[in-house]
Amino acid sequence: MKFSKIVCLFFSLVLFGSCAMKSFEAKPNPQQEVGETQHEVAYEATYVKSVLYPKTNIAALDKEITDIVKDYESKFLNKIKGYKDERKAEFNIGYQSYLKDDRYISIKLDIFEHIYENTEYIETLVYDSVKEKFITLYDIMDEKNIQTLSNKVTTHFQERFPNECYNDSFRSKTSAVEQNFNSFVLRKDRIVFYFPQGSLFDNSASFESFYHNSEDILDSKKETTPTYVSYDQVLNEPVKNIDPNKPMIALTFDDGPTKRYTSAILDSLKEHNANATFFVLGSNAANAPELLQRMILEGHEIGNHTFSHKQLTTLSKANIEEEIIATQETIHNITNRYPAIIRPPYGSRNENVMQSAQGKKIVNWSIDTRDWKDRNADVIVKRVLDTVKDGDIILMHDLYASTAQAVSILVPQLQEQGYQLVTVSELYIYGKKPQPKIIDTK
Ligand code: ZN
Repeated sequence: MKFSKIVCLFFSLVLFGSCAMKSFEAKPNPQQEVGETQHEVAYEATYVKSVLYPKTNIAALDKEITDIVKDYESKFLNKIKGYKDERKAEFNIGYQSYLKDDRYISIKLDIFEHIYENTEYIETLVYDSVKEKFITLYDIMDEKNIQTLSNKVTTHFQERFPNECYNDSFRSKTSAVEQNFNSFVLRKDRIVFYFPQGSLFDNSASFESFYHNSEDILDSKKETTPTYVSYDQVLNEPVKNIDPNKPMIALTFDDGPTKRYTSAILDSLKEHNANATFFVLGSNAANAPELLQRMILEGHEIGNHTFSHKQLTTLSKANIEEEIIATQETIHNITNRYPAIIRPPYGSRNENVMQSAQGKKIVNWSIDTRDWKDRNADVIVKRVLDTVKDGDIILMHDLYASTAQAVSILVPQLQEQGYQLVTVSELYIYGKKPQPKIIDTK
């Protein structure tokens, strides 16, 4: 009997229990099907932090997610006591969230630390919203099934990586015990098991098993691919009247888009006929295609802020390219255009980052509002107005109510002082002393 059949048999037992009619807001990102993304960032003297996790509005699940996040973060802060290195330490969490159907929600948290070296952890949660409890492997498999799973996984990896999969360590970590397989998620069409860095291999690995052999007994929904309203070329873009002889500055917003705050910022900009640049995260962009399309149609610029907000200087060149390309493609799918500008998270860059940027401009800033730290509109407004001058690039984040409020105050005040609010590329075109704020790459 095939493994997928066995799994399905057990799913069918679990699933036939009752009929769940709870519905969750469907999201277009195929890797983040549920939850509103929460994002915490910090840029401290010795470390940087970017934490993305979902808020599902299911109290027990949200508590468990935030407990895990807090636990890893406090351990990280303990570990970096006395940390001293040229390169800042880093704490990064990204997530995936899946709906198997209206009943089962799976969350996968990818925890990444840099403390002299890179370490990755994986945490998964599977929640049964009908029984209101978390699912473990024993809820869907008995010992016999776990043995079959163990055999399947062993063969799968031995066929692919024969040199690494015939030692005692590999055998013990794929043996038929529950703790070897307790990281998993239930997707619409498959179960995916994860093996974190250092468990089976030096890098993390996963094993997928499809349910499809028994669709007749399993009420499984087909995976749906996201569809975006196609962007109608450039016909509707506003005509701009920029006076190259008058002062101009570029407002920039990182880490979004977020439904609530990006919309509010776009409203303020529209009201005053001003433009800005949004350095979006690939993982957030796919959740809010309508906001990206609105940005383009209202004359703003979209920049690449990588997919998962890792400090690029801690990654291999291949991983840096992956972060950049995945984000370029996500933005292109939605807006029909590729960003010409990149802002690496935390502004961190090295030779590998410069090479991976491949002709796109790397964009820094000249005024840091530190809005992530001072969640106070008046402080942010004052910080900008006290120092602003022609050609400035101003760093903010469309993550906070205080930032959205600051923008509604700042935009008319800056215009009153004679500044034109333009995009980064426009600032570059009009030659407002772009270097070192905007750097060309080969
Ligand atoms: Zn950022």
